[in-house]
Amino acid sequence: MEIIQSLILTDDGLHLADVPIPSLLPGEIKIEVRYVGLCGTDVSIWKGDHNVNLPLVLGHEFTGVIHQSTIPQFKVGSLVTAETAISCGSCWYCTNNMTRHCKKRETLGITTDGALSEFLTVPSEIVHVLPPDIDSVSGTFVEPIASAIQTRIKTPVDDGEPMVIIGCGKLGLIIAQVYDAVGAEVYLLDKNPWKLGLAKQLGFRRTIDVTTADWSSAILDETYGVGPRVVVEATGTAKGLDMALDIVRNNGVIALKSKHSDRSSIDPSQLAAREVQLQGSADGPFDIAIDMLNKGRIEVKRLVTKHFPLEDSQKAFEYAAKPDVNKVIIGI
Ligand SMILES: [Zn+2]
Ligand SMILES: [Zn+2]
Repeated sequence: MEIIQSLILTDDGLHLADVPIPSLLPGEIKIEVRYVGLCGTDVSIWKGDHNVNLPLVLGHEFTGVIHQSTIPQFKVGSLVTAETAISCGSCWYCTNNMTRHCKKRETLGITTDGALSEFLTVPSEIVHVLPPDIDSVSGTFVEPIASAIQTRIKTPVDDGEPMVIIGCGKLGLIIAQVYDAVGAEVYLLDKNPWKLGLAKQLGFRRTIDVTTADWSSAILDETYGVGPRVVVEATGTAKGLDMALDIVRNNGVIALKSKHSDRSSIDPSQLAAREVQLQGSADGPFDIAIDMLNKGRIEVKRLVTKHFPLEDSQKAFEYAAKPDVNKVIIGI
C-alpha cells in the first residue's frame, strides 16, 4: 500500500493528511492529479450546507496524468479528466441508457473521495483522454461545460431566440457560452457588478443589473412584453427561482441548475395556472464538452480568478467563497 497526500474534509474542516492508496483493481486507472477547479458545490459542502458523509476528499472538476493503467487503450502519461458519476451498470436506469440516474450511483468528490489528492483511482469507464490542444488547467472545465450542455439538451432554444440566465457565477457564464454557441440571444442577470463585468469581458452585451429599478421591464421590452420562454436559474438560491418565475412567460420553462442550499417556497398554483414547466438537469456528455473546448467555442481562461497550491487549500476555499470570484484552481 502506497502513502499519498490527500486533502480531507472532516467535521472540523480541511486537513492535509497522509493516506494509503489501495492497489489497482482490474478495470481501474490510477491518475496523478494535476489541477482541480472548485465549484459552488465544493464550497457549499465545505461550508456545511449539504449533507454528505465525512470524512470526504472533495474535488470533481480535475485533470491529471495516467500513472498506472489496467486497460491497454489508456496509456501511462496521457492527460485525462473523468466524469463524476460512477454507476453500477446493472440497475434499471443503467440498462436503459440513463446511467446518471443509477440507483447505486456514487459521485466523485461528493459521495466518494474526489480529486483533491496526489493520486486518484477511478474505473476506466469514466476516464476521458484530452486532446493535445487542451491544457491541464482548461481541462478542469470539461465537467461544468458538460453539465451546461445537458441544460441546453434538456431545455433547447431556437436560433435567435431570447432567453435569460439568472446568475453570472461559475456555471452561469459557462451555460451562457453554451447557449450562445447555438445562436440563442442570451440575457445575463446578476446583482454583482464584478460578475456582470466578467460577462461583458466574455463578449456578452445583454447584461442586466437586477439591483436597478427597471431590470424586468428591460427584459419584457425584448420579449413581446410577456417575458422569455426559457429562463435558466443558475444562482442556486430560492430568490433566483422566485425571479425566474416572475419573468418567465406563461407556458415557458425554468431550467434548474446548481445545487440549491435553500428550499424554495415557490407557489405551485402559479406553476399550474401559468403552465410553467420546471426542468432539472444534471451531468452532461463529456465527449461534446471536450469537442467544444478543443474547438475554442468556450472561453475558460478568463474564468480563472486565482490559483493556489494544495498546501494552501484552506485559503483557496475561503477565497472561492468570496463574492468577486469566479473559478479558483488548486494545483496539486
Ligand atoms: Zn461542480
Ligand atoms: Zn445502476
